[in-house]
Amino acid sequence: MLLILVFLYGITLGSFYNVVGLRVPVNESIVKPRSHCPNCNHTLTASELIPVLSYVLLRGKCRRCKAPISPFYPIVELATGIMFMTAPIIMGWSQELIIAWTLISLMVIIFVSDIHYMIIPDKVLIAFSVIFFAERFYHPLTPWWDSLIGALIGFTLLLVIAIVSKGGMGGGDIKLFAVIGLVIGMKLVLLSFFLSTLFGAVFGIAGMAIGKVKKGKPMPFGPYIALGTITAYFFGESILRWYIDIL
Ligand SMILES: [Zn+2]
Repeated sequence: MLLILVFLYGITLGSFYNVVGLRVPVNESIVKPRSHCPNCNHTLTASELIPVLSYVLLRGKCRRCKAPISPFYPIVELATGIMFMTAPIIMGWSQELIIAWTLISLMVIIFVSDIHYMIIPDKVLIAFSVIFFAERFYHPLTPWWDSLIGALIGFTLLLVIAIVSKGGMGGGDIKLFAVIGLVIGMKLVLLSFFLSTLFGAVFGIAGMAIGKVKKGKPMPFGPYIALGTITAYFFGESILRWYIDIL
């Protein structure tokens, strides 16, 4: 029962994160105007705003003008719901769960904004830094200063890569890794970076193979950072143990 409730919270928040990720980078308000069809400007009614379900009931089309609605919205909502629900299954109902849900939230917003605009908004990073700072204050890593070292390593590593690669890494990516380091600490921030580049390379090569990604064209790194960080956070300890066993 509780898991279903968490799932419903997740898809509802996912729908909100779509709005945040699409509006904040272009300096639009997240409350006004109400969501509308980009084709005919029809303002969506309550029954058209139910996460996932509305998309299914409307068969992916605007009720008024029948223009197709991007499947991106329900996919993000569903993914957020599934991740919210999976977190307590993996880690139990502990205090850390609040931090897990916050981290998932940030990663969903970054995913949406970076994939659409190649922007990781400062406003979002600042808001989440404040939340994470408070959360890690009450529920610190062991030792507590792992957060500080993690933030420093995340920031420095990405900064050095940005300088060496002459702009291959954006300012948003650098700041984002500082925030990630604060949340997950030194060891996991390094793993997160490794996994992010690995996912980026795999998807990049696969994308080029099917002709979706063009060589030399900049690719948003945020979606892979999101994937890499979520993987490192939930499975990092197991991955590292498995790696040490192989060695
Ligand atoms: Zn329409």
